[in-house]
Amino acid sequence: MERYYIIIVGGGPAGLTAALYCARAKLNTLVLEKKMPGGQILNTERIENCPGFDSISGLELAQRMEQHARKFGANIKLEEVKEIHSEKGAKVVKTTQGVYHAGAVILAAGGEPRWLGVPGEKELLGKGVSYCALCDGPFFAEQTIAVVGGGDAAVGEAIYLTKFAGKVYLIHRRNSLRAKKELQEELLNNPKVEVVWDSVVENIEGKHTVERIMLKNVKTSKNSPLEVSGVFIYIGFVPNSNLFNKNLELDERGYIKTDYKMSTSVEGVFAAGDIRFQLAKQITNAMSDGATAAIAAEAYLKEKGLV
Ligand SMILES: Cc1cc2nc3c(=O)[nH]c(=O)nc-3n(C[C@H](O)[C@H](O)[C@H](O)COP(=O)(O)OP(=O)(O)OC[C@H]3O[C@@H](n4cnc5c(N)ncnc54)[C@H](O)[C@@H]3O)c2cc1C
Repeated sequence: MERYYIIIVGGGPAGLTAALYCARAKLNTLVLEKKMPGGQILNTERIENCPGFDSISGLELAQRMEQHARKFGANIKLEEVKEIHSEKGAKVVKTTQGVYHAGAVILAAGGEPRWLGVPGEKELLGKGVSYCALCDGPFFAEQTIAVVGGGDAAVGEAIYLTKFAGKVYLIHRRNSLRAKKELQEELLNNPKVEVVWDSVVENIEGKHTVERIMLKNVKTSKNSPLEVSGVFIYIGFVPNSNLFNKNLELDERGYIKTDYKMSTSVEGVFAAGDIRFQLAKQITNAMSDGATAAIAAEAYLKEKGLV
């Protein structure tokens, strides 16, 4: 059985940053990634808010982060983690291919925005379909766009997007919003916003980029096209915390609870990035969490005499 000082679950921005810090501190480190290193940023063609890069593709940033972590000696394996438990002070990590031991574990398995699951959504992702107003809003200057959802995130982001877009439609499947009253008032008083009530998106269309969405009124069953160049989908986010929640404390939305050191409710288990609740799910925040978790995990190993 292979033994490491630190095992990191997930090779997104949080996991790869944690790996860089751990490996650079000369801790024998393993990153376990179920797909390919990079995480959610692999789904984006243009990133403009990562300091040091005016504009960089998600793929290139992912490759750079991976190489950087490897340069300091991090071991990265493409294996899916299935289970983690504590055994005599050590952490036992079971994957699809093997079993590993570590003194500490950093959970950086991120999560996924909830998809609408309609035709065109996958095909036009990054070409007008977005799950992040903060990331992509500036690309839609003076354009007409739609936001889908009715909670705080959808309403808050629709208001934010009026900074850039000429017109913002909020598409909501009911006839009232779930968002906080203050947000609702701000939205409804914004002259750039029009709410389309009782409606769902049936498909997203466009040759190379989004050109229109097809709406269905759930009360009348009537279909109608809406010409937009962007669709921002805010119908929820699912953190990948389910594998580890037997002993780990989660919040009411399913995110892993941590303190300022990224320590979880289980000794020797740390969490970083989108797997814990963030005010803004951003690369910089995930990186910052990863660095903190790595430093705290090293301190934990020292305190326990495990390194
Ligand atoms: C389309 C899109 C565009 C975005 N654009 C920007 C942007 O321009 N700027 C910005 O700052 N932010 C952007 N974001 C947000 C940013 O990508 C996330 O905040 C960031 O990736 C979170 O990093 P993370 O490492 O916490 O999680 P993730 O990126 O989700 O990475 C988690 C990794 O863990 C792996 N994993 C999950 N479960 C397991 C398991 N059981 N075993 C092994 N591995 C596992 C996953 O495969 C994944 O690679 C964007 C997000 C999306 C979806």
